Amino acid sequence: MNIEEDAYRYAVKNAFEHKGQAQIGALIGKLKALHSDKDVSEIMPIVTETVKKVNSMSAAEIEEAFKDFEGGYELKPKQGREGLAPLDWAEKGGKVVTRFAPNPNGPAHLGHARAFYLSYAYAKMYNGKFILRFEDTDPKVKKPIENAEALFLSDLGWFGIKPDEIYFASDRMEIYYEYMRKLIELDKAYVCFCESEKWRSLTQEKKACPHRNISKEKQLAEFEKMISNETKEGEAVLRIKTDLDNPDPSIRDWWVARIVDSPKHPRIKKEYHVWPSYMFQSAVDDYLMGVTFILRGQEHSQNQTKQEYLCKYFGWGYPHAVHFGRMSAEGMILSTSKIRAGIESGEYSGWDDIRIGTIQAIRRRGFD
Ligand SMILES: [Zn+2]
Repeated sequence: MNIEEDAYRYAVKNAFEHKGQAQIGALIGKLKALHSDKDVSEIMPIVTETVKKVNSMSAAEIEEAFKDFEGGYELKPKQGREGLAPLDWAEKGGKVVTRFAPNPNGPAHLGHARAFYLSYAYAKMYNGKFILRFEDTDPKVKKPIENAEALFLSDLGWFGIKPDEIYFASDRMEIYYEYMRKLIELDKAYVCFCESEKWRSLTQEKKACPHRNISKEKQLAEFEKMISNETKEGEAVLRIKTDLDNPDPSIRDWWVARIVDSPKHPRIKKEYHVWPSYMFQSAVDDYLMGVTFILRGQEHSQNQTKQEYLCKYFGWGYPHAVHFGRMSAEGMILSTSKIRAGIESGEYSGWDDIRIGTIQAIRRRGFD
C-alpha cells in the first residue's frame, strides 16, 4: 500500500476515534512504523495534507469511510511478519537446541525476557529443546544469589515457559578443568603471570608476554599449581592463544580462568580456586549440551569471535547465533549490578521494587 493511502486510512480511523479530529502526531508515528524507509520530512507534508482533508469531513462521512476500511487495516509494519522468522537450517532438518544462560547474580529482568522467550519459542516451533543454564562461575564480582533456580523458574513460569533441562555451571567445574588441560596440551593456552598493567601495555603493542612461549609441559605444571592453590589470587591467569594482531585488543589472548582465594559461592561447598571465564565456560557447555542456536543481546556479539578460537582448536562447529539490540525500558533500571547496589544501599526495597525492571517487579505492578 502506498503511503498516501495509508495516511488516509489511519487519519480516518484516528478521526473516528477522536471526535472527528485526526491527530498529526499519532499519524506520523504510525506511518513511520509502516514506512520505515521514509524520512519524517517526507512523511510530514503527506500527514498535514491528509489530516486537513479528513478533519474537514462531516462526522457521518468519517464514519462511513471508517466502516469501509474496517477490517482492512494493516496494523503491522510491512517489514514485520506474523510469528517467528523461519530458520533455513532448521527447515532443512537441523535440530534446534536453544539455551537461556543467565548469570544468576540477580533474578530475571526485562532485558532477559526477549532472549528467553525467543529461545523457548524457537525450540517449541521446531520440536527442539530449551535449556536453562545458570552461568554462576563468578564468585567474586558478580556473585550468584541464593535461590536462583526457584526465582528464575517462577518468572519463566509466569511466561508459560518450562525448561527441558536445567544446569548449573558451578556443578561442572571438573569438566572445565579437563578442557583447560586439553587446551594446554594442544599448546593453545598458557599460564600468564604478568601484572595487569604490564599485560595491557604488551598487548596494546601486539607483543607476546614472556610466558606465552614456555613449553606445554611447564604450562601444565603451572596450571596444576593454580588448581591446588599453590599459586594465589592475582598472581596468574590462564590465557588462550589467539591472534596478537587482532584489531580488537580484548580478543588478544583473552583469559580462560582465574584464581579466587576463599570463594564464597551459594551452592558449591567444595573450595575451587580456579574459576573459568564465562566466555570459556559458555563455549564448552554449548558444545557439550549440543546447543545449535544462540539468541543474545548485541553486547555479546563479540563473544563469537573470541569463542571461535576455542572451537577451531577443538574442532567444534559454532552454533547459529543472532544478536538483538540492547533493550531499554523508559524509567526502568535493567542492570543487575545497579539494581543490586540499589538494594544494598537501601534505595530499593528489594528485587520486586516497582521502579526496577525485574520480572518480579513487573508481576507486582500487575501487568499480564
Ligand atoms: Zn604473561
